[in-house]
Amino acid sequence: MIVIDRDLRANGASVRNFGLITATGQERGASWTRARRTCAIWEEMAEQAGFPILQRGLWMMARRQESHAVLEAFAKTEMGEGCEILSRAAARACCGEIVNESVKAVLRSPMELRVESRQVIPKIAAWLAERQGVMFLRESAALCVEPPRIKTSRGMVAAGAAVVCPGDDMASLFPEHIAKYQLARCKLQMLRLADPGFRLPAALMSDLGLLRYAGYSALCESAPLRARLEVEQAEHLKQGVHLIVVQSADGSLVVGDSHQYGATQDCFSQQHIDRLILDEFTAATGRAPPEVRERWIGTYAASADRTMFIDAPALNVRIAMVTGGSGASTGFAFGEEVIVDLFGRSSS
Ligand SMILES: Cc1cc2nc3c(=O)[nH]c(=O)nc-3n(C[C@H](O)[C@H](O)[C@H](O)COP(=O)(O)OP(=O)(O)OC[C@H]3O[C@@H](n4cnc5c(N)ncnc54)[C@H](O)[C@@H]3O)c2cc1C
Repeated sequence: MIVIDRDLRANGASVRNFGLITATGQERGASWTRARRTCAIWEEMAEQAGFPILQRGLWMMARRQESHAVLEAFAKTEMGEGCEILSRAAARACCGEIVNESVKAVLRSPMELRVESRQVIPKIAAWLAERQGVMFLRESAALCVEPPRIKTSRGMVAAGAAVVCPGDDMASLFPEHIAKYQLARCKLQMLRLADPGFRLPAALMSDLGLLRYAGYSALCESAPLRARLEVEQAEHLKQGVHLIVVQSADGSLVVGDSHQYGATQDCFSQQHIDRLILDEFTAATGRAPPEVRERWIGTYAASADRTMFIDAPALNVRIAMVTGGSGASTGFAFGEEVIVDLFGRSSS
């Protein structure tokens, strides 16, 4: 097996993300099931490739009556399996540092995993190369994919079949096939904050996330919350801001994010948007944000109506794209489906 990548090392969405593998909140049905399977594979990968899971679980923190109602409704669905709702007092007993008077309740999920993507993705690649016999042809653009030959910027590669995973490049390979899915490029702003001096009990999200994630937002109980947030946090919604906070081994926090859609995205972070993210951090945790240590942007290919797709431009070629911004959470299970689609069986 050979992986062809035009970068010397992973530098796209897969290392710019939160490293949060989340099932809770993924779209009900196939996406949620994929996310649970993907969590299980991440656990296996961590053991085999030798990297740590830095955090486990999610706290979805509700500070409005309407968001509390969404959490209650969610917990009663099959997606709430294993989750529990903590009162403010119970949450405070677990982590007093982040539970202020505005918190109404917390949905605690045990399912989520958090890894440090920028360290883990290279580690997985090294494990694949050293232990699984996978070859990596780096700094090489795939120019034409027609098995049994793939033309690259460094010459021909022989391959009986190919899976094209172009990230957010919708123009280079099979553009006419990709165009059918009417994708946009989504730009996200991200921040790393200094260690706040205590450990988070889990990854954190807040009310805005209940509209962002289809597993919650598709519940009819989310309508009153949407109406209220459209009045109270209109600018956050306009910029696609919601809150995720995860913690790294050194205590620092990765905090985001925003979502802006278009064909071509500039590479500039806007202070105004960072401010909205940090305001939500303060509203959710009751704390002033620690000092900003890093800022970056990431992009992914986004669809308005599907979280992923497999397209078959030829019998032995598949285009596989996660288009819902959830590749870390659903990608491994999706990869299994792609292999079954291509070969009619799972790989060993
Ligand atoms: C800021 C941010 C935060 C996110 N947070 C999360 C999260 O916490 N949890 C989650 O589940 N998901 C998250 N996501 C989404 C997730 O990261 C993506 O869905 C996933 O990483 C996409 O993986 P990919 O391999 O398709 O794309 P990428 O990681 O972008 O990789 C694509 C690769 O293909 C190469 N390539 C493209 N075309 C060619 C070509 N013709 N020839 C050679 N090489 C080529 C590129 O150079 C690149 O290396 C986030 C995304 C972003 C941007």
